[in-house]
Amino acid sequence: MSDSPSLGFDTLQIHAGAQPDPATGARQTPIYQTTAYAFRDADHAAALFNLEEVGYIYSRLTNPTVAVLQERIATLEGGAGAVCCSSGHAAQIMALFPLMGPGRNVVASTRLYGGTITQFSQTIKRFGWSAKFVDFDDPEAVKAAIDEDTRAVFCESIANPGGYITDLDAISAVTDAAGLPLIVDNTLATPYLCRPFDHGATLVVHSATKYLTGNGTVTGGCVVDSGKFDWSASDRFPSLSAPEPAYHGLKFHEALGPMAFTFHSIAIGLRDLGMTMNPQGAHYTLMGIETLSLRMQRHVENAVKVASWLEADPRVEFVTYAGLPSSPYHDRVKSICPKGAGGLFTFAVKGGYDACVKLVDAVELFSHVANLGDTRSLIIHSASTTHRQLTPEQQTAAGAAPNLVRLSIGIEDAHDLIADLDQALARATA
Ligand SMILES: *Cc1c(COP(=O)(O)O)cnc(C)c1O
Repeated sequence: MSDSPSLGFDTLQIHAGAQPDPATGARQTPIYQTTAYAFRDADHAAALFNLEEVGYIYSRLTNPTVAVLQERIATLEGGAGAVCCSSGHAAQIMALFPLMGPGRNVVASTRLYGGTITQFSQTIKRFGWSAKFVDFDDPEAVKAAIDEDTRAVFCESIANPGGYITDLDAISAVTDAAGLPLIVDNTLATPYLCRPFDHGATLVVHSATKYLTGNGTVTGGCVVDSGKFDWSASDRFPSLSAPEPAYHGLKFHEALGPMAFTFHSIAIGLRDLGMTMNPQGAHYTLMGIETLSLRMQRHVENAVKVASWLEADPRVEFVTYAGLPSSPYHDRVKSICPKGAGGLFTFAVKGGYDACVKLVDAVELFSHVANLGDTRSLIIHSASTTHRQLTPEQQTAAGAAPNLVRLSIGIEDAHDLIADLDQALARATA
């Protein structure tokens, strides 16, 4: 199957990267449940280890089922290559790993998945890395935060949990001028709603756990490279531009051009960090991706209906969904994610923290879980769960203030979702 860019999204989400299995003709991509691959002979083995020939060695590095998923996601994002890994959080470390080093920093948005704020503000310090958090609605603040040790700029296209939309064009103008890569977490938008590379992003990361798989069955992640960043334009990215001691002195950018980042991520990132996606997980995500556009259309349609109903309800103070004309981010939908603002948003319940906690206990159809992007509708009170580790100031800056409840709108009948919220709000605010 040719992955010609002239093919439409609905076609590519089913066909990109896949073909009938050459060994058996199996039409669906087989789950290659194998650790190792037989070498033809000693020369073949040597060529594979020297990256002179592309092929399979060991499933910590590459696996045929995972490879189909990598090509599928790279194609849908319009990237040069992709590497799948064990989770969305693994993908974030994998994206930063070739760029960072002790003393280096990443400039990141205050509006991020709660776990990412913790990963960036605490855990990466163990590697000698650090993060500076700024408001990405203010590109001048992003510019001001960049210093000589900055190696990347990080944000979400549609940001968790409030569904805010980042002006990727304005941010990439700043990173272009600074000669830095822009990393965009596209988990909430998926490539169906937003293509960050069209807005100047360098790398895209995904939690495949969410909409890409779509039904809460997998933990997985992916890093996609646009293939367009010039790693050799400065001496700031020696792991890609200079002889890499961890791979017998290979100069990845010189040797592999637009595939430098992808090969580095496999040959060093997966080899030494070992955050590998398993073939069974890749299979489930491939199944999910086949219906991505259909699901995203329904997620958006339902989110608009539920958010509009909530906004008109007297028990609700406000709704943060960018798909509503009242949102300050509504204008960005047209330019950044023209097919819709996604399926995730928060709303403020009159009655604050206590009413929110009662509400999550009162719903019957919505599931009270720490996940999003499922076919089923989900609810969570971020301040007491996913954003619990943050200070109240960080919670509010991240869009997870104590009076807010987050909804991940599924693909059920919208009127059933509204009826459930109606009865739950009645009990929570009684
Ligand atoms: C869930 C999520 C992550 C982390 O992904 P995991 O697969 O849970 O590790 C990162 N970013 C966003 C936006 C997420 O929603």
